[in-house]
Amino acid sequence: MTTDVLIIGGGAIGAAVAYFVRLLDPAAEVTVVERDLTYARASTPRASGGVRRLFSLPENIELSNFSIPFFDDFAETMAVDGVHADIGLKKNGYLFIVPPSGRDVLTRNFDRQGAMGVNVVWLEPDELKQRFPSMNVEDLGAAVLSLDDGWLDPHSLLMGFRKKAQSMGVEFFADEVVGLERAATTVTATILRSGRRLEPSHVVNAAGAWANDICAMVGERVPIEPLRRFEHYFESQEPIEPLPYLKDTQRLAFRPEGRGYSGGVPTLDEPRGDNLEVDQQYFENVVWPALAHRFDQFERTICRSTMAGLYDQNDFDGNAIIGPGVGGLANFHLAAGFSGHGLMHAPGVGRALAELILRGRYETIDLTRFGWQRIVDSKPLREEGII
Ligand SMILES: Cc1cc2nc3c(=O)[nH]c(=O)nc-3n(C[C@H](O)[C@H](O)[C@H](O)COP(=O)(O)OP(=O)(O)OC[C@H]3O[C@@H](n4cnc5c(N)ncnc54)[C@H](O)[C@@H]3O)c2cc1C
Repeated sequence: MTTDVLIIGGGAIGAAVAYFVRLLDPAAEVTVVERDLTYARASTPRASGGVRRLFSLPENIELSNFSIPFFDDFAETMAVDGVHADIGLKKNGYLFIVPPSGRDVLTRNFDRQGAMGVNVVWLEPDELKQRFPSMNVEDLGAAVLSLDDGWLDPHSLLMGFRKKAQSMGVEFFADEVVGLERAATTVTATILRSGRRLEPSHVVNAAGAWANDICAMVGERVPIEPLRRFEHYFESQEPIEPLPYLKDTQRLAFRPEGRGYSGGVPTLDEPRGDNLEVDQQYFENVVWPALAHRFDQFERTICRSTMAGLYDQNDFDGNAIIGPGVGGLANFHLAAGFSGHGLMHAPGVGRALAELILRGRYETIDLTRFGWQRIVDSKPLREEGII
């Protein structure tokens, strides 16, 4: 069987790429192969849902500048048969707080974000205290609030993309890719567990935390590994004023959710691997002290649930690897390694990769620097400051 574009992995990234390929070329045959259409272990439904423009790299800011307005209109754009695709977007802001030693980096990023049209507000500690009276600001040097950012429901986003793509003619196969055949600079065939054999013109590796397993099928390795991260739902006994999504340099990151809050403290010290086991002590040992330090109200807090999920962590530089080139293969495109910010960038990445595949060049957002070549050249492209 032939297909123009075969996408391995039907999470947020794979579904977004499928949607945009079909949007840009309604005649393109697009097939998504997803081994588990319930997404029981996939990263997307386990994400916290934060969407922000607070980055240092222009590419990441541009991806957010494209994606967040896309989320604004998502319900209508992704409507199928008149049914809107609500994603629960809450634009209650995104706040980065830093100690005095972080002011210089925050200033540089703030200047760049402002220059790129982001609606950011610089807050000195006393101004921060005025806005958020419950916050302990004594150890803080400054903060930046991005007013038009916030959070959304990851599962709804995924379903919105998938249903819309299906309505436009994209096929989602419930199957697993178990092999790839190559000849010189081309992937020639994709073998599925069912025994099916597909011969696509282009293959997209959107397998998230498992992207490296797919690369191994063409005899290549990429620096992307699964990195476990916990997302906790917790409540405070005492009320706190309405908060934005809040992130600090010690990596505490959380946001309001229902009657409580959702978030955690991701760590790079975690062994890499496909492990979704929950460490029941992590909240009490790591997250609770960080929360209680920042807000007195969290001295008495109850953690109601903990869920483990996997980052597709790019240990080379913490950013996505996008486009062809792995193993010299011209029709094998990576879209993985998002290291904790793949959900918010799914629309921008989907659009960009669709352009690259169909038109041979980036038109909307130039993601050339996120390509495989930087790995070959040993030139990491790191986010400065908090990621
Ligand atoms: C706790 C947590 C919090 C996060 N918070 C945020 C956040 O606030 N904001 C944000 O932007 N990002 C966040 N992220 C990151 C975000 O979840 C990911 O970057 C994003 O979901 C990646 O999407 P994906 O489609 O690449 O991966 P996935 O959703 O994992 O999809 C990959 C799919 O590939 C499939 N697959 C794998 N191998 C095969 C195969 N051989 N054959 C067929 N299918 C295969 C898998 O079944 C899976 O469904 C968070 C992640 C975690 C774990």
